[in-house]
Amino acid sequence: MTQEELFKNLIAHTKEYGFIFPSSEIYDGLGAVYDYGQLGSELKNNIKKYWWDAMVRLNENIVGIDSAIFMHPRIWEASGHVGAFNDPLIDNKDSKKRYRADVLLEDYIAKLEEKINKDVEKGRKKFGEAFDEAQFRATNPNVLRNVNKINACKERMVEALNKNDLDALKQLILDCEIVCPISGTKNWTDVRQFNLMFSTQLGSVSGESGTIYLRPETAQGIFVNYLNVQKTGRMKLPFGIAQIGKAFRNEIVARQFIFRMREFEQMEMQFFVKPGEELEWFAKWKETRLKWHKAIGMGEENYRYHDHDKLAHYANAATDIEFNFPFGFKELEGIHSRTDFDLGRHQEYSGKKLQYFDPEKGENYVPYVIETSIGVDRTVLAVLSGAYKEEKLENGEERVVLKFHPALAPVKLAVLPLVKKDGLPELAREIMSDLKLDFNCQYDEKDSIGKRYRRQDAIGTPLCITVDHQSLEDKCVTLRDRDTMAQERVPIADLYRIVEEKVSMRNLLKQVR
Ligand code: ATP
Repeated sequence: MTQEELFKNLIAHTKEYGFIFPSSEIYDGLGAVYDYGQLGSELKNNIKKYWWDAMVRLNENIVGIDSAIFMHPRIWEASGHVGAFNDPLIDNKDSKKRYRADVLLEDYIAKLEEKINKDVEKGRKKFGEAFDEAQFRATNPNVLRNVNKINACKERMVEALNKNDLDALKQLILDCEIVCPISGTKNWTDVRQFNLMFSTQLGSVSGESGTIYLRPETAQGIFVNYLNVQKTGRMKLPFGIAQIGKAFRNEIVARQFIFRMREFEQMEMQFFVKPGEELEWFAKWKETRLKWHKAIGMGEENYRYHDHDKLAHYANAATDIEFNFPFGFKELEGIHSRTDFDLGRHQEYSGKKLQYFDPEKGENYVPYVIETSIGVDRTVLAVLSGAYKEEKLENGEERVVLKFHPALAPVKLAVLPLVKKDGLPELAREIMSDLKLDFNCQYDEKDSIGKRYRRQDAIGTPLCITVDHQSLEDKCVTLRDRDTMAQERVPIADLYRIVEEKVSMRNLLKQVR
């Protein structure tokens, strides 16, 4: 099965089992907006809790806040979003479809990379054991031609984007002979800038003065509260402020399911440090954040850093943590060393001092900032795509299983009476009424036990408890493990301890403390 087919199956699966629905579906949906269903919202909550506990609870010098989505419009002038939060867009005149110019070029580059990989695979088949991949890549004329094309395209794209040269961007699209995937033509409009912020009106005032924005990131809510938190929390440098919340961007090309949405959620942390110490902290946060991702267990090889060569003018280091999504390695989290840019700008635009009094140095200064910024929805997608497995079992049957880390699984255990009579449902209910005080449980008495196991596999429930006739006698139940499908007999009295050990968030937090 191709990655594309697997991704389609995953999307269908998340809908079928109540993880993610297209928004407003009965009205034919709303582009790039999604709703989380009964299981998706549990999964999302668990991911947010893991992040919050790892950042705020485990670090004495990090505190969390919850700032409003609406903020004073001047904030977005100070942050640069009003002037420069733009994407270059281009329309195809025949299909009337709109694209991001840089994404068209990135797709073109990805296609060339795919061609190279295909050539390498052909070479491997042809030469068998004697195949030397490095040598093949360095000498094969087809590969070299495509590598040159990629390099030339990348170089021109970066230059055009940096110079904000929209004509050069269009010329590059024409020179690469990129066609619209819908109409197949090269009939393109000019490239224009498009601001990604949604705006609305505050109160009854209409016109410019009443215009406010839906925040395109949560970070600014942290910066403008820097002094409030520092003073009321008596925080000493270095310290961090964390926040989880919704953000809104009018993305031009909304694709790839919940990877790029118009309404999404971020988990951001701004870490304030003494000027001069920022690169040390940048390196530390880079490492800490990767550890957090890897602990989830979706395969260490599926994460990598992408250090930025070209930095924003205010940044002195930046990296992305990328995940190997079904459509390739893409950004999951950004880590940026942002100097004193943000606090400095708010100081300038608000006219209020946003400084720190350093008792050791006996002086005031604007702290430097390291930012870690991760999308909740992209993490949900990473976890879902890493966990989704279509397995063939030894007995020839097939199963779809979501191999979530047990601490993130939406449902922790299912309680299943073997039959619907003879007092088994009553005992099952009794067991569940105790366990549900601590764990999200499901009770299911319909269909054969095999079918019920499959249903729990499909939603990623780590443990199933089956209550049978013998349970009435010996006060033991059968415990079945999702991944190994192994079954063991355990006393009812031990269930709490066993389940807790398996599904506790401690298991994740211990790895990142
Ligand atoms: P991209 O280049 O993919 O558009 P970005 O560099 O603009 O992302 P940031 O501004 O650094 O992203 O935002 C931080 C994080 O927020 C991203 O790493 C991503 O996880 C998440 N994010 C950003 N835009 C979206 C979106 N439209 N939908 C879902 N998540 C998003």
